[in-house]
Amino acid sequence: MKYVSTRDRMRTYTAAEAIVKGISDDGGLIVPSSFPVLDEAKFDALLGMDYPERAASVLSEYLDGFSFEELLDYANRAYSRFDGDDPCPLVKVDDGLFMLELWHGPTYAFKDMALTLLPYLMVASKRKLGDESKTLILVATSGDTGKAALEGFRDVEGTEIVVFYPVDGVSAMQKRQMITQQGENVHVAGIKGNFDDAQTAVKRVFTDAEVIAKLKEHGIEMSSANSINWGRLAPQIAYYISAYCDLVNAGEISRGEKINFVVPTGNFGNILAGYYAYRMGLPVHKLIVASNANNILSDFFNTGKYDVNRKFFKTMSPSMDILVSSNLERLIFEVTGRDSAKVRKIYDDLKKDGRFELDMSELDLDVFEAGWADEEDTREAMFNFFDLDDVVLDPHTAVAASVYSEYADETEDETTSVIVSTASPYKFACDVYNAIAGAKEKDPDKAVMKLHAFTAAECPDGILALNSLPVRHTSVIERDGVKQAVYDFVLGEEK
Ligand SMILES: *Cc1c(COP(=O)(O)O)cnc(C)c1O
Repeated sequence: MKYVSTRDRMRTYTAAEAIVKGISDDGGLIVPSSFPVLDEAKFDALLGMDYPERAASVLSEYLDGFSFEELLDYANRAYSRFDGDDPCPLVKVDDGLFMLELWHGPTYAFKDMALTLLPYLMVASKRKLGDESKTLILVATSGDTGKAALEGFRDVEGTEIVVFYPVDGVSAMQKRQMITQQGENVHVAGIKGNFDDAQTAVKRVFTDAEVIAKLKEHGIEMSSANSINWGRLAPQIAYYISAYCDLVNAGEISRGEKINFVVPTGNFGNILAGYYAYRMGLPVHKLIVASNANNILSDFFNTGKYDVNRKFFKTMSPSMDILVSSNLERLIFEVTGRDSAKVRKIYDDLKKDGRFELDMSELDLDVFEAGWADEEDTREAMFNFFDLDDVVLDPHTAVAASVYSEYADETEDETTSVIVSTASPYKFACDVYNAIAGAKEKDPDKAVMKLHAFTAAECPDGILALNSLPVRHTSVIERDGVKQAVYDFVLGEEK
C-alpha cells in the first residue's frame, strides 16, 4: 500500500514515511492510494478476535512493512492502558440504539484510541526508515488531543512534544489535565486565540523552511500528532469495524445488515475513519455528522457551501469548536474522484477567501447525513438520556444524541444505530451536572462529586486525583509566537 498527497496524486509515500512526516511536503494530506477490501474470510476472522487483535489486523491492511505480530504487540501495550477488559465497549441504550464508548483510556476521551498507539508506530517508522533524528511532536489542541498526545509521548525515548491550546477555549478539567502534565520531554503553552488560530500557526511552522533547517542542525525533525497524521486515523478505522463485529456477535444484527453511526464532529477525523471503514466494505447505511453551534460542517453537507466567515461560538463541547476541519480535505479528495488539481484549487480558495463551494449533486455523498445541535438542544439531550435511559452523556456525545433523535424523528429510519461516545462526562462535570440536575454549579471539583452522587456513574480515579497534582506549565503566548515558543522550548538550553 502506497500513500499519496491529496494535492498531488503523483507524490507518493510509504506507510512509515506517512507516519513520520504527518503532512505532505506540498501542504496536502497523506491518504492511502486505495482501500483494502474486507472480504468474507477476513470478516470471519475478525469476529473471533479481541480488540487489540482486530486493531492489529485492520492496521496490517494499511501499514506495509509492519508485521501483524509487531502491530499486535503495539496494540496490546497501548490498550492495556485502558480501564476494564474491553477498551471500547458497546453499550445498549434501547432497542436498536447503542453507545460506542471510546473514553476508557488514560485521558478519558476518544483521542486515546489512537494516541496510545501512535508513539509505537512513530518510533518504529523512524527505525524502519533508518532515521536517527529526534522527533519533535507539535500539537494544536481543542482540548482532548493535547492531553492524550502528552500522555502518549511522555518520556518516549527520542521524542519531545509541544502542545498549544487556546487559553480560554478548553474546559477547566481539560486545562488542568494539560498544565499538570508530568514527564521530562513535555511542553505546554496556552495561545491567545481559538483552536483555528492555534492549528493554523502550527501548520505554518511545519512547512517553515527556517524552522526545518534550524531544527535539523540540532538533529531534530518535526511531526504531527493531530488527526492530519495517518498514524492517528488508521487506528480509528478499527473501532468502527469492531463495533460492527460486536453487534453481530451479540445477535443484535445479522451479518451484512447495514447500520448507522452518529459521530460528534470537529476536525472530521473520527467520522472520516468511519467513512474509510465503509469504503473497505463495512455495511453502513448512514454516517451522521453531528455539529455543535459551530455548524460549518452540517451547513457544508446540506448546501455544498463551506464558509469560515461566520461567528465563532465557545460551547460546552470545546473539542468541536472548530471552523477549519482539516480532514474534510481527505473526503473531498475521495468524492471528487481523487482530483488533486481540484483539491488544490478548493484549498487555495479557502486560504484566499475563507470559503469554497461544491456542486453536491456531482459528488457521491449519499452515505452522509448531517445535523447540528445548539447549546439548549445539547442540554436537553443530556437531560433526556439520563432521565429516560439512565445514560450520562458528556456534551460532545450529547450533540450526537440530539442530532440522532432529530434524524430518527424526521426520517423514521429504524436502522440499528451506534452513537459514537467520545468523552467521559466527568471531563465536563459542571455542564453535565447542571444540565441533568437543573443546577448552577461552577466549581469543577464540586461538580464531579455532585455528578457522582446524583447519577452513581463511575468516576475515573485519574479525574479525582487531578486537583492534587502540581501545575508544571504556565506559559501563555501570542498567536504569532508559536515559532519562537518552539525555539525556546526545544533549543532553549543550547542557545
Ligand atoms: C476531538 C473530539 C471530537 C471531535 O472529533 P474530530 O475527529 O475532531 O471530528 C468530539 N468529541 C470529543 C470529546 C473530542 O475530544
